[in-house]
Amino acid sequence: MYTIAIHGGAGVINRNSLNAEEEKLYLEGLEESLNIGYKLLEAGKNALDAVEAAVISLEDNLMFNAGKGSVFNSDGIHEMEASIMWGKNLDAGAVSGIRNVKNPIQLARAAMEKSPHLFLNSSGAELFAKELDFPFEDDSYFFTTKRYDQLLEAKKDSRVQLDHFADNFGTVGAVALDSFGNLASANSTGGLTNKSYGRIGDSPLIGSGTYANNNTCAVSCTGDGEFFIRGVVAYDISCLVEYKNMSLADACNLVIKEKMVKLGGEGGVIAVDKSGNVALVFNSGGMYRGFKKHDGTSEIAIF
Ligand code: ASP
Repeated sequence: MYTIAIHGGAGVINRNSLNAEEEKLYLEGLEESLNIGYKLLEAGKNALDAVEAAVISLEDNLMFNAGKGSVFNSDGIHEMEASIMWGKNLDAGAVSGIRNVKNPIQLARAAMEKSPHLFLNSSGAELFAKELDFPFEDDSYFFTTKRYDQLLEAKKDSRVQLDHFADNFGTVGAVALDSFGNLASANSTGGLTNKSYGRIGDSPLIGSGTYANNNTCAVSCTGDGEFFIRGVVAYDISCLVEYKNMSLADACNLVIKEKMVKLGGEGGVIAVDKSGNVALVFNSGGMYRGFKKHDGTSEIAIF
């Protein structure tokens, strides 16, 4: 039994904000990522490998706000963040404020596996990436006119925004259950357009944006980072499953559609539990999302 689910961000996404060509590119990007992760699970690889590979595929895709497609911060640069968690032993790795690293999720995994520390930040994290010979890219690799225009728009009225409010790009993430019963979760983002230097969102924070525990579930979040941090959303869902015996769907619905709404936070989660149940829940207009299960069921959707 194995299952994978992915997200490419949640926010104000509606049919009017996406043209047919863009919609096609998003759906193709989601499908590609899902298939890459699924094939690894099918070949007997573990959930950690599957979520990492699925996220790398989205990081390399210009359509999404992570890696190559990352949004600009207020200084007109890209500061990326990512995290990964292994439900088997609750091990985790995270990076934030990193520049020019091609695949932040790989660095998060390296922080987990090759560093005595869990969370590395900024220039220290970049130094660690250099020591490991990780690929770096020039600023030009991360530049798109469209994304730059988003920044200029946001700066006009001093807005800090989820990238998809101005356009349709999203933070990315993946959760998986492998055939050995292990759960893993991953998250990667460029954060918010026009964010201030040094701002850290929920995506690299274990418990807020990312959580995985073999006894409960794996969760990856996307949305208003500040609210997801305050709600400790990913861990809250795991706790409801563990301590209140709630089903995954009920736990996700309670946290996203009731608690987050009350708090004023917009966004969504993808989650898979130890039995392979999947929940893709959001309180926003849309969420780029998909799942694929060993029993042949799958879905890819935006709205
Ligand atoms: N959660 C991310 C952040 O606040 C944004 C997103 O999910 O698109 O940085």
